[in-house]
Amino acid sequence: MVNYGIDIWGNDNFIIKDGAICINKGSRPSLLSITQDIRNSGLRGPIILRFPHLIGKQIDTLYANFERAINENEYTGSFNAVFPLKVNQYPQAVKSIIEYGKSYNYGLEAGSKAELILAIAQTPLGSPITVNGFKDTEMTTLCFMAAQMGHNITVTLEGIGELESIIEVANGTNLKIPNIGIRVRLHSTGSGTWAKSGGMDAKFGLTATELIEAINLLKNHTLIERFSMIHFHIGSQMEEIAPLKKALREAGNIYAELKRMGADGLNAINIGGGLAVEYAQTEQHRLRNYSLTEFANDVVYVLREIMNTKEVEHPNIFTESGRFIVASHAVLITPVLELFSQDYQEKSLNFTGSNPPLIEELRELNTLLTRETCIEYMHDALDHLESLFTLFDLGYINLQDRSNAEILVHQIIKKSLRMMKGSPTLELTRMQERLQERYLINSSIFQSMPDYWGLQQHFPVMPLNKLDEPAIRAASLWDITCDSDGEIQFDPSAPLYLHDVDLDDEEYFLAFFNVGAYQETLGMNHNLFTHPNECSVDVTESGYRLHNIEESQNILDILDDIGYDKSQILIQLKNNLANTAFTTEEEKNDTLQKLELYLYQNGYLRTTN
Ligand SMILES: *Cc1c(COP(=O)(O)O)cnc(C)c1O
Repeated sequence: MVNYGIDIWGNDNFIIKDGAICINKGSRPSLLSITQDIRNSGLRGPIILRFPHLIGKQIDTLYANFERAINENEYTGSFNAVFPLKVNQYPQAVKSIIEYGKSYNYGLEAGSKAELILAIAQTPLGSPITVNGFKDTEMTTLCFMAAQMGHNITVTLEGIGELESIIEVANGTNLKIPNIGIRVRLHSTGSGTWAKSGGMDAKFGLTATELIEAINLLKNHTLIERFSMIHFHIGSQMEEIAPLKKALREAGNIYAELKRMGADGLNAINIGGGLAVEYAQTEQHRLRNYSLTEFANDVVYVLREIMNTKEVEHPNIFTESGRFIVASHAVLITPVLELFSQDYQEKSLNFTGSNPPLIEELRELNTLLTRETCIEYMHDALDHLESLFTLFDLGYINLQDRSNAEILVHQIIKKSLRMMKGSPTLELTRMQERLQERYLINSSIFQSMPDYWGLQQHFPVMPLNKLDEPAIRAASLWDITCDSDGEIQFDPSAPLYLHDVDLDDEEYFLAFFNVGAYQETLGMNHNLFTHPNECSVDVTESGYRLHNIEESQNILDILDDIGYDKSQILIQLKNNLANTAFTTEEEKNDTLQKLELYLYQNGYLRTTN
């Protein structure tokens, strides 16, 4: 994995400079200097770094591509977009979305009551709000209130029953009626892990029969003028373009048919989200088979062709891409706490004057190893190790001998791997897989990369520095939860090579990229590890500015959140301690102070790292 695949997943957002990964903007600061800056204030544990300019870049790219496609195809409809809040509702992310999106009239999409309130409060008046997901009468009423406030809001019906609730609210109040959208149920399906959103068995959307029924209901209740949009969403992380084209053809024809049936207010097709993000670190694992240019061209071209054939005006286009907009803006920095294989380092060898003959032979093999002999010597070493284990079980060698044997054999295998790099035998490749060395990272996979746990979604990962030094340890990553699922393993055909570091002497950090979409609110507090520390970074020409540094929740607040009374817990612990015998009053006060300090710190580990 040369350069850790930065040219595949990095999108020119990062560069490697002087052996460190840097932000490719302005002063090009290294992620390491930013991380150390934040840690100098005493903060410990994992950190989410947010780079608002990367949200800006994605919004600009989305609009520029569609504007270009529209001009090139002489398309007469407009391009509009909303950000689906479920992808990231965190305040700093939403703030950047609003700021960078303002000049485009970029809006927000909501899928629940809480998201709807957020959208109504945050969307600039005039920018679109779309509302998807299942709704009750209260939620529908909230949409009417938003319309009354002057918002450009469209309520999307997920089922025919929701139309009844709209009719009920429209009849029962004098509030302004919002625009009405209808999700259509397509027979075409998406591709990728999340494809369940499209297709005849989809969770959402009206069938052809229900669409006809809905049109009649809307006409009968004089609401047909409010019906302005049809909507579909074929699923997230759409890795191939073909299913989108199929869905567009189907939805485009439904649009034209509805226009013919007298849906005079209908003027927009909302194509949902699904634009994929490249998470792969190697060419052979590449996920996405299209570019944004191709995506935009296809949408505009397919709709134009259908409308021209059916002599219908070109509809306005809406997109709800979320992952594409925010994935790249967040980077998770995790300190490495420990290398579990450190016990296998040469410096731990400890020989006596008279070592068992097999150990002496291992020492010799280890010294004499060459590229020509290494396979043979490695076989001899493994053979010796088996014999030495047997000798240990029978009581003939001691624990130090056994430790020496394990280290020597490890050394021999690792040296062979290095010598044969480029042309490893199948056996060596398997050996390597078994020898993935465990790096313990100060974070929770359940909290910070739930899609790895739930869907085996890979996130690009690399060390922050030492990138000009050879990385020779094929690694697997362990998190600090007490759960055996809290491990990230790597495909032996594409191992993650990390550096040999002595953590007593130096710090070592890993960065996970493209974690800005879905991970933060999907993350779970397994073992009570909560949302990491976070910080926003504005990169300038001369340096960078850190703002909105938020520490991860402290331990008392974590307990309070799940229903404990934190003051009671504090009092109880302090009383318990105060009632024990201390040698001096000073010692007692010290201990009580320390206890209190610990309780007000975040729940991640605070060793030197
Ligand atoms: C989740 C969702 C989106 C966002 O999808 P991405 O793949 O993140 O772009 C858009 N629209 C709807 C209706 C959704 O449910």
